[in-house]
Amino acid sequence: MQVLIAEDSVVSAKVLERALRQLGCTVQVAHDGAQAWQMFQEQSAPLVVTDWEMPHMDGIELCRKIREFPQDTYTYIVLLTGRDQKEDKLAALEAGADDFLTKPLDIAELKACLHSAQRILSAEARLKEQNQQLSEMYEELQSQHASLLATQRLVEHANRRFSDLFENLPIACFTFDAEGVLREWNHAAEQLYGYSKAEVLFRSMFEKVFRGESALRMGELMRMVLAGSTLTGIESEDYDAEGRRHYVLRGAFPLRNPAGEVVGGLVSVVDVTERVEYEQQLKAMNEKLQSLAITDGLTGLYNHRAFQDFLEQEFQRAKRYGAPLSLILMDVDKFKQYNDTFGHQAGDEVLKQVAEILKQNARQTDFVARYGGEEFATVLPNTELQDAVRVAERFRHAIERASWELRPVTGSFGVASLTDAIHNRQELIEQADQALYHAKHSGRNRVCTYEERKSTHLHAA
Ligand code: GH3
Ligand code: MG
Ligand code: MG
Repeated sequence: MQVLIAEDSVVSAKVLERALRQLGCTVQVAHDGAQAWQMFQEQSAPLVVTDWEMPHMDGIELCRKIREFPQDTYTYIVLLTGRDQKEDKLAALEAGADDFLTKPLDIAELKACLHSAQRILSAEARLKEQNQQLSEMYEELQSQHASLLATQRLVEHANRRFSDLFENLPIACFTFDAEGVLREWNHAAEQLYGYSKAEVLFRSMFEKVFRGESALRMGELMRMVLAGSTLTGIESEDYDAEGRRHYVLRGAFPLRNPAGEVVGGLVSVVDVTERVEYEQQLKAMNEKLQSLAITDGLTGLYNHRAFQDFLEQEFQRAKRYGAPLSLILMDVDKFKQYNDTFGHQAGDEVLKQVAEILKQNARQTDFVARYGGEEFATVLPNTELQDAVRVAERFRHAIERASWELRPVTGSFGVASLTDAIHNRQELIEQADQALYHAKHSGRNRVCTYEERKSTHLHAA
């Protein structure tokens, strides 16, 4: 141990120095208080043994100065004294002394004193070490706390960013918990459904937003999501606060707690009302176009093209199954004259009325079409010639007996049926046309068959 001795008596100093050296100490000697103070400031010592009364600075003063001197390690101060007064010792203790050695020096006492100095100093060293460890731990804790704070700020920032994103998504989004209570409801949802956050949050989504049929569909979706399913492209219909219907496409996925258990779901809703309505309009328009393509504008009967298609189809069927098939062609008599006399518009009215009569008198399965001009065609599937003739007669009779405003109207009819001699639908039309021609030449307002025409020709020949 390093010891600083402050002693003005040279003899005492020597005695003390030798004793301390013998006890294994390194010793420096000052011959008064001021010198000791000077030396201490230059190099502090863990143990100072100082005389009480010295010139320039006494032991008490030295003690006080050492105690006031800022230093890292403790200095154990022992006062050498001849005094035994209680007050003096109290004053010394107050000035910062740790122990006393009485003069003349007793080696055993010095030894004991040295021991207690060592004990105190090493206890202090241990304390210092523990202190050091504690302060290191404290610093470590401080830095952990700082990084925790930084992480927390990052999480808060990420949370804020997520909720900003959720809130401002242009797609309606909401979340619900396991009881179907709405937990989040973004701006687009407010706009789509017409309910503000205040109106729906923390209430069951079935209280206001999803009612009736929508509630059933939403309930089913909720059940599937809570069972862990992710859903996309679910078509549905929802109603807003004003009762307007919206066609929507839904997506949904489960929300889980940190343990991975499903605790709710997130639903996104895209309003596709405009698209669906547009598709519906388009479909209606297509249907209309389709019907326009096959109907005759004036009479509402099937047009020439539809007639050809239908006849072709029935021709093929009849050929394949060996079924009968008949065709009636009809032409209004002296119609040019009618037009010339009463005008084209009056003629149109006649055509419409004739069409109506044909439709009324045709059978369910007969196909009545406007062949062109003032000519009409009726396809009779599964019909033998004689039955077709009966239908044609019914037509003829009905036209003749109808009440015509300006002048009686009649029609001539040619009937032909499928035979082995006919190979395509054109030949069937040709035969019916020849029969019609024959009816015209036989005086009009009558029904002729291709067979009759043939026999007449043969007869004429
Ligand atoms: P026939 O008894 O020999 O059949 O004499 P017709 O005058 O009826 O025969 P023609 O073929 O000479 O005349 C047919 C007339 O039908 C000519 C045309 O003006 C008229 N016609 C054709 N299509 C229409 C139409 O859509 N509306 C009107 N009002 N007349 C039409
Ligand atoms: Mg004609
Ligand atoms: Mg005519």
